[in-house]
Amino acid sequence: MNMFGRVIMAFMPITPRALVRFFARRYVAGTELKDALKVMSELSSENTSFTVDVLGEDISSIDETEKFVREYTDLISAISKSEIDAHVSLKPTAFGLDIDYALAIEKLSEIVEMANKSEIFVRLDMEDSKLTELTLKATEDLYKKGHNNIGVVLQGRMFRTPDDLRRISKSMGKDADVRICKGIYLEPPDIAHTKYQDIVDATAEAISSALDLGMYVGIASHDIPVIEASLTELQNRGFLPDFQDPRDPVPTKRNGKGNGYEFQFLLGVRGDVRRRLASEGHLTRVYLPYGKQWYEYSMRRLRENPGVAWHVAKSVIFPWTNRR
Ligand code: FAD
Repeated sequence: MNMFGRVIMAFMPITPRALVRFFARRYVAGTELKDALKVMSELSSENTSFTVDVLGEDISSIDETEKFVREYTDLISAISKSEIDAHVSLKPTAFGLDIDYALAIEKLSEIVEMANKSEIFVRLDMEDSKLTELTLKATEDLYKKGHNNIGVVLQGRMFRTPDDLRRISKSMGKDADVRICKGIYLEPPDIAHTKYQDIVDATAEAISSALDLGMYVGIASHDIPVIEASLTELQNRGFLPDFQDPRDPVPTKRNGKGNGYEFQFLLGVRGDVRRRLASEGHLTRVYLPYGKQWYEYSMRRLRENPGVAWHVAKSVIFPWTNRR
């Protein structure tokens, strides 16, 4: 599978931009805020919520953060004026986390505070392993500053995740909110699982532990074994979509959140599974990226994980495996 992805990757440098755009438009809402709002209002009829990401990360100069502060300010203001049920997600390196930590915290704090006034939740996405420690520290430092509308992402493939779950549970208590995904970055075998089944098992295990720790859990996988294992774990703990969260401690209830957990999907990926979960009463959320940097974003994701190229190709060749 990855070999097929690598073959596609070999052709990427000579692939016309227009062709990349053709494939990317399923996964990226557009270049402008108005495109994101349009896609969200179209998808709202599918009984789903959203988390919106302004594309861009890994800036080279701290001056570039201003652009992201403006974009997120406009985004939060547009969401709060609309009827749309949306949170925001952001990449900490877009705010220069790895260039000037103190300044990045100041900028992130501005965004989180503004979001809080409109009861909008802010998630710090997790980037590659060089950023794990810094991203967790940023989440904790923002929380210490009094922001409780923030959460982070932990990647099932990372060996450190079980410890990080306990750490976040301890530092954020009932406000702890984690998205758990497999992790898109292919990390080395001394720090992460590298085999498919090990990653699935570790991701399902992380979801189960987060539920036990009393956290709010965003289950972010399109993989049926992970989704099924999560549904079993929820059922075993007495979670039913329309009932109270049965745990003790119960995570802090916030606007726009589900009953202690939710299922999250990337825009354009396995919409049929998302719609099925929503029809069964589970809260679902679509991760919706938009922005001018769609090309760089698409190419970077493909470079980081050539398996993504295979997923995209498979969606075109065997469309029934991955409905929009
Ligand atoms: P897979 O086995 O990879 O995929 C299962 C099936 O889903 C595939 O067979 C295919 O049909 C479909 N599919 C999956 N991904 C794609 C794709 N990109 N394009 C087309 N079809 C696809 N990773 C991080 O490292 N940090 C994050 O902050 C982060 N945030 C995420 C937020 C959300 C809401 C989601 C859903 C994922 C996020 N990820 C993040 C990515 C995640 O870590 C995985 O890389 C990704 O979801 C693929 O793993 P999977 O569990 O869906 O399983």
